[in-house]
Amino acid sequence: MRAEASVVIIGGGIIGTAIAFYLCKKGLKDVVLVEKSYLSSGATGRCGGGIRQQWSERMNVRLAMRSVKLFERFEEEVGMDIEYYHGGYLLLAYTDEEVELFHKNVAMQQEEGLDVRLLSKEETKEKFPFMNLEGLKLATFCPTDGHANPHLATMAYAKAAEKMGAMILTHTEVTDIDVQNGQIKGVLTTKGYIKTSVVVNAAGGFSREVGLMAGVELPTESYRHQIFVTEPLEHILDPLVISFVNNFYIRQTKSGNFIMGQGDKDEPPSHKHDPSWRFLVEMTEKMPHFFPFLKEVRVLRHWAGLYNMSPDAQPIIDKSDKLSDFYFAIGFSGHGFMLAPAVGEAMADWIIYGSPKKVDISNLKMERFSKGVSREKNVV
Ligand SMILES: Cc1cc2nc3c(=O)[nH]c(=O)nc-3n(C[C@H](O)[C@H](O)[C@H](O)COP(=O)(O)OP(=O)(O)OC[C@H]3O[C@@H](n4cnc5c(N)ncnc54)[C@H](O)[C@@H]3O)c2cc1C
Repeated sequence: MRAEASVVIIGGGIIGTAIAFYLCKKGLKDVVLVEKSYLSSGATGRCGGGIRQQWSERMNVRLAMRSVKLFERFEEEVGMDIEYYHGGYLLLAYTDEEVELFHKNVAMQQEEGLDVRLLSKEETKEKFPFMNLEGLKLATFCPTDGHANPHLATMAYAKAAEKMGAMILTHTEVTDIDVQNGQIKGVLTTKGYIKTSVVVNAAGGFSREVGLMAGVELPTESYRHQIFVTEPLEHILDPLVISFVNNFYIRQTKSGNFIMGQGDKDEPPSHKHDPSWRFLVEMTEKMPHFFPFLKEVRVLRHWAGLYNMSPDAQPIIDKSDKLSDFYFAIGFSGHGFMLAPAVGEAMADWIIYGSPKKVDISNLKMERFSKGVSREKNVV
């Protein structure tokens, strides 16, 4: 194990590995990433893999658009096929409030340069004749949205970072952060002490706990979210389809399986990971109504992961103002996989050059919570 590093990253999900990759790519080789379990064992390996640019908050649109640019050249840049698929995202509106919001969102997204359009019920029916669109008022569609395999993406970043000189320590837990007089001196792990002056908290569902190790209070909370996968069917569904009022999202993987999930408003914050019977019953009753071809399909596997929520459902990307060089990329609120390339790049630029270069992420700093925030509405 390396006893000294210029940067220690805590967390081996998509965010930690993306940051490690971009730090190494930009020239910092002695990076150590510490993961308490295996790579992508947290939310990343349990997520839907959706990549969407259609958000209600401009900042999320910008970050997602930058990420899509990076996903488009992922194989060439990072060196692995991650089953990236440009099938688009179809957002369904069923209420007058949603119709109003979707009109507003699309106008803002188009201002940002996104290729996104409104679809009437008839146009949606024509494009997706196999769906039951009863009650639909409007839809929006962005063809450059899509999905990818989150395990492969995490492995790709980690392997590429390792090749450039990073050390990836799995099954190693950070148990404390050594802070003296406002300066980080190192991190204590289950495999020994690593001397460093720069630490990045990319601990996902445990971001708050890792913050407290350095004496920094972070306003994130974790919530269980569940998801399941069916047996494979012939390819039928190109886009990832999402409905906020009906509380579902669904996509078809490269091998034909359907992955789908919903949120649970009654779920209290916790680190619970166990799947519930209630979820399975609700989803298997609900989904065949919208997708009649799912009636006879068997569920293969069902699991849960953590949404690390911030108060406004937008990520917190910042550096502590209480101690030197404690960075955090946390609170992704259910959309961290798709934002990871842009966040990895921005964090690396910030650490190496003193500021992010490609996307202005100043609106994602902690200070926003004392000024009043606008909550991201397009979340399940
Ligand atoms: C059911 C579900 C569906 C989702 N669907 C999507 C989607 O379609 N698209 C999308 O963009 N996002 C989706 N998300 C959200 C996405 O998964 C997360 O936002 C993203 O994976 C966050 O990545 P991360 O690297 O920050 O966190 P994680 O993947 O959770 O990684 C954090 C890592 O830190 C490690 N760790 C924690 N504490 C310590 C410690 N003390 N020492 C060492 N290691 C530590 C953990 O073991 C973990 O592996 C979904 C999430 C869930 C749960």
